[in-house]
Amino acid sequence: MADSKDYYEILGVSKTATADEIKRAFRKLAKQYHPDAQHTEEEKAKAEVKFKEINEAYSVLSDETKRAQYDRFGSNFEQAGFGGGSYGNYGGFDFSGFGSGMGVDIDLDDILGSVFGGGFGGFGSSAKKKGPTKGADLRYNLNITFEEAAFGTKKEINVARQEKCEVCHGSGAKPGSKVVTCDKCGGRGKIQFTQNTIMGTFSSVKTCDKCGGEGKVIEAPCEKCNGKGTSRKTRKLSVTIPAGIDNGQAISLSGEGDVGLKGGPSGDLYIVVSVAPHKIFTRRGFDILANFKVPYSKMVLGGTIKIPTLEGEVEFEIPEGTNAGTTFKLKEKGIQNIHGRGKGNLEFTVDVDIPKRLNDRQREILKEFASTLGEEVSVKKKGFFR
Ligand SMILES: [Zn+2]
Ligand SMILES: [Zn+2]
Repeated sequence: MADSKDYYEILGVSKTATADEIKRAFRKLAKQYHPDAQHTEEEKAKAEVKFKEINEAYSVLSDETKRAQYDRFGSNFEQAGFGGGSYGNYGGFDFSGFGSGMGVDIDLDDILGSVFGGGFGGFGSSAKKKGPTKGADLRYNLNITFEEAAFGTKKEINVARQEKCEVCHGSGAKPGSKVVTCDKCGGRGKIQFTQNTIMGTFSSVKTCDKCGGEGKVIEAPCEKCNGKGTSRKTRKLSVTIPAGIDNGQAISLSGEGDVGLKGGPSGDLYIVVSVAPHKIFTRRGFDILANFKVPYSKMVLGGTIKIPTLEGEVEFEIPEGTNAGTTFKLKEKGIQNIHGRGKGNLEFTVDVDIPKRLNDRQREILKEFASTLGEEVSVKKKGFFR
């Protein structure tokens, strides 16, 4: 045995750590170094080594008896002659359970399962147990106009998704080929491997990466899909966009996602809409909002103005003496409530359309008008308005 390992250091806990602290530290590290959490092969390889170390440390420190023995011997294990395949009873301490000679298998999948409550794939490979699996949900981003969102529309979309391979009908097997016993694990679905540690030689078991734990493999994989049982297809789908949908909302098409594996159900397709902004209107729920400029004379005297709506122009009576900033409401000129109960309103705020240039006559009239109100008017020299 070359190096003696500090199990406390490996788990990052103190020598006085409680069972709970040890368990928490192990969970955290096991998650961090789980092969499925790594991105590259190199990371995976490194993590695997680390993972085994963590597991080894935990298997000792989580067991009260073993931890006490380890504590007692500490770093003197080597000198005490515990390395190099010398295991069994030493000095009256029972180390059974640590040597391969004892015939005890430590099943990493089982350990993880018990710690995490299941849900982990096979250790050392990303292969999961291949039961029926639901297909992946898909997302499709659809751009629509403001009016399309307001009134609803029908769209044709092209969706690329995994469908059942038409050559092997999803089995993954080349037509005519058989399903045979996995030669890597001999049909057990698990592979035994040994590791030499300070505590002796561990014999551990992991899920077979060739058959994914099934114990059976396809003799010849389907050439079309390489044994996956699925292939990528682009489908044209017709989508009904309901009136009243808003930016960021989604329509789900059940079962239109990727096909499931081994008889599992298909995933769903989510169509997420992006609504383009409108030139005039903004939206607040099912109401639409706008700002309009109204000529000064109409604000003062009142009169009819034309208001654009989503359904064309309408006439609106501006009351006499309307102040800038006044808001008016046109009932039911907004957007259809998507739940089917009526429509929102159109709310618009008016501002004065101040004329930029007046001719001499207009200026005179306005001056005269102001003087009738008793306002003092000092008109700047001509040219100021240029
Ligand atoms: Zn196929
Ligand atoms: Zn196998």
